[in-house]
Amino acid sequence: MGLAALKLPRFSPTMQRPVVVSTWDSGMPVNAEAWKILSTKGKSLDAVEAGAIHIENTINCCVGLGGYPDRDGIVTLDACIMDEKANCGAVAGLERIKHPISVARKVMENTPHVILVGQGAQQFALQNGFPLESTELSAEAKEAYQQWLKKSQYKPEVNIELKQNHGPFAPHFFDDGTLNHDTMGLVALDGHGDLSGAVTTSGMAYKVHGRVGDSPIIGAGLFVDNEVGAATSSGLGEEVIRICGTHTVVEYMRHGYSPEAACKKACDRIVNRDPEKAKSLQVGFLALNKFGQYGAYAIQDGFVFSVKSETENQIHKSKFLI
Ligand code: ASP
Repeated sequence: MGLAALKLPRFSPTMQRPVVVSTWDSGMPVNAEAWKILSTKGKSLDAVEAGAIHIENTINCCVGLGGYPDRDGIVTLDACIMDEKANCGAVAGLERIKHPISVARKVMENTPHVILVGQGAQQFALQNGFPLESTELSAEAKEAYQQWLKKSQYKPEVNIELKQNHGPFAPHFFDDGTLNHDTMGLVALDGHGDLSGAVTTSGMAYKVHGRVGDSPIIGAGLFVDNEVGAATSSGLGEEVIRICGTHTVVEYMRHGYSPEAACKKACDRIVNRDPEKAKSLQVGFLALNKFGQYGAYAIQDGFVFSVKSETENQIHKSKFLI
């Protein structure tokens, strides 16, 4: 056999690109937005930002200024973005700015830093031309907060915050009545073979003012390694941070695990550390590898994710451990 015949294909035969995957069913319109860029030979970085901007423009329980407030009644936003060169930017505890994802991108591109928080992040946003929005809660969030104030309990068990506040966020219920956290995390592989990711959230409802979850933390809520793959997460952020969740997922993929298996291994880490505690908490991981193969895994039932490629446009139910 000649040398030419021995040559390995440059990519796995199952290679597909471009492709974008995002957390939850709310990822469908987000993917559609990202796809406009991906399908016209655009960059994954622009695609994930466009997807995140789209959901920040909608009323959603857990993303953007319309989301649930903290326990002081203030909406604080977290977001991060990362590209194929490991450039990254993030904001945390950002108030009254509509598009935290774009501020995060500006942090990445216009500063020598990775994360800006609170007042400093807001000041930076204003300096960069982002308008200051009202402090008013969305009607949906106001109603939910009033309900919550009656007991004022913070029990970050599986989906408990949303169980307490039914009506206004009905679109975030599944047919079987399960309720979910709804942080938007999306990762995309573009036609040039480059991966990027973005995460945007208002974080856990009724958190302590100043609390930062996994979502804006590179390696926790989002990680991209252009040689290997990218991952994002949703669920109880403190548990994701404890295991550097998405970095862990990407490292498992580096060692040969499929995206789904890598996500499962990361869930195993959380559960094995404290199986009793894990019974009442939810974390879901979603990953995409360099070949455009994707997969997810969650601790509990209820996590879903959305996929868009040339051949697919659908919501998948994640497998789960418990
Ligand atoms: N991971 C987010 C946080 O801990 C919450 C979520 O996924 O909804 O802030």
